[in-house]
Amino acid sequence: MSARARIGVLALQGAFAAHEAALKRLGADVREVRLPADLDDCDALVMPGGESTTMSKLLETSALFDPLAKRLADGLPVFGTCAGMILLAAHVADARPDQRSFGAIDLDVQRNAYGRQVDSFETDVAVRGFDRAFHAVFIRAPRVTRVGNDVEVLAVHDDVPVLVRSKTVLAASFHPELSDDDRVHQMFVDMVTA
Ligand code: GLN
Repeated sequence: MSARARIGVLALQGAFAAHEAALKRLGADVREVRLPADLDDCDALVMPGGESTTMSKLLETSALFDPLAKRLADGLPVFGTCAGMILLAAHVADARPDQRSFGAIDLDVQRNAYGRQVDSFETDVAVRGFDRAFHAVFIRAPRVTRVGNDVEVLAVHDDVPVLVRSKTVLAASFHPELSDDDRVHQMFVDMVTA
């Protein structure tokens, strides 16, 4: 990339450190976002996996929710994984009543919907544009129940979308930062620097 993309990683809770490592390997200028002012010098943001109910609450108490909602509405590129996907969705089933999401992508999800026996699993998925499969790690993942017309499905597992993209939003129900493979992060860096 010519100018290094300044990519923020939401660092309130959850699996943010592995995202930072992947983005740094790809040459991005990475910064942690905990306060509203941290957003000012971000060209893009990663919302990690973790616990979306807790993250929603921490977004409110840190006063980040509203400024972040505005940046997302203004087209800030964002990559959400697992809980991050839940936070970006338009509608969340089995949410806690006080849980908020940004509606940044026209997508409905159901929390923890893969069932108790298999609430965590790993599988290879074919990703559009990749010449070999991506090893995907699912941890109490949300299940995508609806995708809008302008949402591109890049990977499915058992006929359910697991990696989707709109103009400025990339969202995965799995954890690409936990596989030793940076191709999904590279896809996001390419969206930011395009
Ligand atoms: N089940 C979590 C939630 O609802 C998401 C799990 C994850 O991010 N690994 O927020």
